[in-house]
Amino acid sequence: MSLNLLNLDAAQLAGFFAEAGEKPFRAKQLLRWMHQSGEADFSKMSDLARPLREKLAASAVIEAPRVVSDTTAADGTRKWLIDVGKGNAVETVFIPETNRGTLCVSSQAGCALDCKFCSTARQGFNRNLSVAEMIGQLWIANKALGAAPKGERVLSNVVLMGMGEPLANFDNVVTAMRLMLDDNAYGLSRRRVTLSTSGIVPAIDRLRDTCPVALAVSLHAPNDALRNILVPINRKYPLAELLAACRRYLDKAPRDFLTFEYVMLEGVNDGAEHARQLIALVRDVPCKFNLIPFNPFPNSGFKRSSRDAICRFAEILISAGLVVTTRKTRGDDIDAACGQLAGKVEDKTRRTRRVVEIRPC
Ligand code: SAH
Repeated sequence: MSLNLLNLDAAQLAGFFAEAGEKPFRAKQLLRWMHQSGEADFSKMSDLARPLREKLAASAVIEAPRVVSDTTAADGTRKWLIDVGKGNAVETVFIPETNRGTLCVSSQAGCALDCKFCSTARQGFNRNLSVAEMIGQLWIANKALGAAPKGERVLSNVVLMGMGEPLANFDNVVTAMRLMLDDNAYGLSRRRVTLSTSGIVPAIDRLRDTCPVALAVSLHAPNDALRNILVPINRKYPLAELLAACRRYLDKAPRDFLTFEYVMLEGVNDGAEHARQLIALVRDVPCKFNLIPFNPFPNSGFKRSSRDAICRFAEILISAGLVVTTRKTRGDDIDAACGQLAGKVEDKTRRTRRVVEIRPC
């Protein structure tokens, strides 16, 4: 099988050229062709000598995953279903806003973490995505969206908030993020690449040391008893450890705060007492809260908190001095909202479909 060059970051590509007896600056040229011009055909790379183009064509390929479908919601949110082989498909979502365009990238086919309110979790886990399959999502979006007028970026932000737990696919995710940050590839600043995690504590420390980007942490509950149920990874890495890792992360983070995501589930985690517990919990962590109205899916067993309940909850946090935003639901008419991404996963874990019933703690 030929080597797919979309799997390589700048350093790896320089190594590839060195091994082939070529100059390291070829890596830069090739990165630009692949990621900035979206070119997959070596014969069209006009500033590479013909013998080199032929050598590359004989030993390597540039292969983004195949798009299965491309759907646009009434609000302009666009979703691509992407084939990643063997019956698996993942989703990537572009969310246009006035001053920016955000791509929500998937990192795994399915997910092993079993968060109770997430539809990806219901599918079970199949496998980690390769670098090419992740960076391929930017490639596909860039090609489909075309260039913006006045050289503005159409795709200005990336959030690793699609299907999967990015920190459970650590090495590939870091390599893909290096390409997102590379000036010869996507050239995004560290503040504009956000990784969202359910809280795998040792991997948060590793990320801080290898590739710090903006961090979002899926908190969803203000105490261990409730979080153990909603986000079961909490049994392994309880809140005290998670918050300590968050504080350590901030030493090297590109922003001086992190984001806590909090899904609003009616009657489960949305009461005044939960808000008060949260205030005490995050006292020592510079942070911002992003409240996410629950996005329903069949047999989820949960309901979205009412607008009033969300407002009351936000007010309590705000009056304690916290910064709070409520995530606008985007693209829910095409099942592209948070937690609705399902793609198609051949479940290796054989997770049974079940209806969960959870009482508030
Ligand atoms: N595994 C990563 C990325 C997942 S998705 C993580 O856990 O952070 C990004 C966000 O959407 C997470 O905060 C996740 O908890 C949230 N989410 C999952 N299902 C949801 C749903 N049905 N409604 C609203 N938000 C949901």
